[in-house]
Amino acid sequence: MEDRADEPGHGLPTPSESTRLLNSIAGHLAGFVYRCRDDAQWTVEYISGGFQALTGYAPEDLVGNRLFGYSELIHPEDRPLVAEVSNCSKPEGARIAVEYRLCRRDGAVRWVSERAVRVFDEASAGWKWEGFIEDITERKRAERALHEANERYQSIFENALEGIFQVTPEGRLLVANPAMARMFGFESPAALLAELRDVPRQLYVEPERREEYRRQIEANGAVSNFEFQAFRKNGEVIWVSENAHVRRSPADGSIYYEGTLEDITARRVYQAQIERQANYDALTGLANRALLNGRLHQAIGQATATASEIAVVFIDLDQFKFINDTYGHALGDGLLQSMADRLRSCVRDSDTVARQGGDEFVLLLQGYRPEDLSGVVQRLHAAIAQPWVSGRREFHVTSSIGVALYPGDGASADVLLRNADAAMYKAKENGRNAVQFFTAELNHALVERLDIEHRLRGALARSQFLLHYQPRIDMDTGRIAGAEALLRWRVPQRGLVSPARFISVAEDTGLIVPIGRWVLHTACQQARAWQMAGLPPIVVSVNVSPRQFREGNIVATIAEALRTAGLDARYLQIELTEGLAMHGAEKYVEMLGQIKALGVQIAVDDFGTGYSSLSYLKRFPVDQLKVDRSFVVDLATDPDDAVIVQAIIALGHKLNLRVVAEGVETTEQLKFLRESGCDEMQGYLFGKPMIAADFAALLMSHDSGQYAQLRQA
Ligand code: C2E
Ligand code: MG
Ligand code: MG
Repeated sequence: MEDRADEPGHGLPTPSESTRLLNSIAGHLAGFVYRCRDDAQWTVEYISGGFQALTGYAPEDLVGNRLFGYSELIHPEDRPLVAEVSNCSKPEGARIAVEYRLCRRDGAVRWVSERAVRVFDEASAGWKWEGFIEDITERKRAERALHEANERYQSIFENALEGIFQVTPEGRLLVANPAMARMFGFESPAALLAELRDVPRQLYVEPERREEYRRQIEANGAVSNFEFQAFRKNGEVIWVSENAHVRRSPADGSIYYEGTLEDITARRVYQAQIERQANYDALTGLANRALLNGRLHQAIGQATATASEIAVVFIDLDQFKFINDTYGHALGDGLLQSMADRLRSCVRDSDTVARQGGDEFVLLLQGYRPEDLSGVVQRLHAAIAQPWVSGRREFHVTSSIGVALYPGDGASADVLLRNADAAMYKAKENGRNAVQFFTAELNHALVERLDIEHRLRGALARSQFLLHYQPRIDMDTGRIAGAEALLRWRVPQRGLVSPARFISVAEDTGLIVPIGRWVLHTACQQARAWQMAGLPPIVVSVNVSPRQFREGNIVATIAEALRTAGLDARYLQIELTEGLAMHGAEKYVEMLGQIKALGVQIAVDDFGTGYSSLSYLKRFPVDQLKVDRSFVVDLATDPDDAVIVQAIIALGHKLNLRVVAEGVETTEQLKFLRESGCDEMQGYLFGKPMIAADFAALLMSHDSGQYAQLRQA
């Protein structure tokens, strides 16, 4: 049977015009109307055609309860409810309104709403129920969907990690979720809403920031990732990021802002930390090299625009390495921190004080009048020189300071830094504890130094090096005990360049490592060649620089030089400067032990010019002390020097070392040294450094290298 909504109702006599109309209207309803007796079974008398469309059953199946009672169509779970509603007291005009589920013939379930009224029928003189049953499945579904959506949004609102809120443009909080309450330190949204009545005044740390917020949201209808600092309930300050937009209330058209808030304090702190690490020195909190460079570039840009001066000031602490090595890094760190504070306190906040690493500080000073600048630099110098106290010790630290000015001393950041550095070196060279402004002569020296560096890089490959040899005389026998190999550099069109000019460049650039290796090999080969030529065997001394120890694998290099030359190790001596001993860590003691174990002798060169810590003499396996030339020069005239030399000789002998005097030029010096018990001598008096062939001739002559002067003196 088909579902026909316009089928006339059953059980009524032939329809009059009005019942036909009723049937027609009823047939168009999404549901059906009915009338039934007010008996226990609600026996159906009339039912409109919509019944079939709704339930799938024909109306005649039901009328008179012929096949089944209506209640059998009701979903079993809902039957008690419907029974209860329909059994309520039945005075005239009683009404029923109930919603429940119907089971269709095809098994589908529909939601219906039933409304019925109890009326008295004059014709049959009995009570009837007249009602309307309407399909509300769609409405129910929509309601459920709405409910679910509500629940979903409620859950998001309740459980979100972000704060969610609505607020009036004036700043009265309308809605807030638990996350927002937590963010600001309230136990519940209610507490937050109750206490936070004026968001702009109570929340914002910076009122200007709130103004900015207002400008943005009014101009754009929204703000995105708007970051500001906010107070928590307990007064703590947090960083938050807000996203919000303007909404209009559907109810009354009023405007409010709705959005989310995120606590970004941790991110901010982390960011700040990263920034600090990238730009600041961890130990002193000063700017680091990168930040200084950035600021310097910036300053040059500005200075070019405003035609003002910039000063770059290089500061190096004179005694730092010594103090650090002697008293330990903890104390050294403390010293650097104090000096950093002192420097900072000497200049304006707008100036940059940077630490380049080690004990080197660089300052960038801007906007000082030229006539004031030297005063500022003197102040820096004096600040460092103040005694520094650690525990019960008092330290006196001085500094060497170099200054370069923009634009006079350099047009770029690199050149300015380099020239300030060069000026600082000059201050150090001049005996430390001094301020040196960059000058034209310095510039000249710097240019020359760069030129040397440039030429030096190709010198080994072009075979521009050679060795000169200077005799060392044994005072007891008067014979040549050894030869010091001294490096010479022959530069085309310039002749021989003295080591004083290029050794420091070679050390700074690291070129000393390959050059030093060449010297070792060449000296060993020369010594062996003289022996092969039948000359009396002598010890060759080679100067070795600290850098060869640091990075030159010096032990292997020496062993290799001896092996390739076929020279017995006892004919090689290396000369170290006191610097190595002073700055050398324990690992140098170990290396020297290994060199000593090869059979090579070790001498300390230029003795007396370094810092006066003698303890290393005990730790280093040294054979010889070479008294520096500067003490020998004035022996005859300066009684102090005479005393020093005698003291060194006595010290050397106490430690079982042979003492050699360097730079002996006169017989007076010779006489004095001899009487003081000096073991060996070297100097122009016996021979200047000379080429190998001349040295060989010297070895052969003079009664096989015997010096007559010694006997005369
Ligand atoms: P040093 O090792 O102290 O060498 C002695 C210096 O004194 C030599 O200068 C020598 O020529 C000079 N001299 C010797 N006797 C006299 C004298 O009676 N009067 C005067 N006025 N001077 C005298 P030189 O050859 O110019 O070397 C200077 C320095 O360069 C050396 O000082 C040494 O430290 C360094 N040097 C030379 N060759 C090498 C090398 O192959 N490697 C390394 N690392 N340094 C070297
Ligand atoms: Mg030497
Ligand atoms: Mg020397």
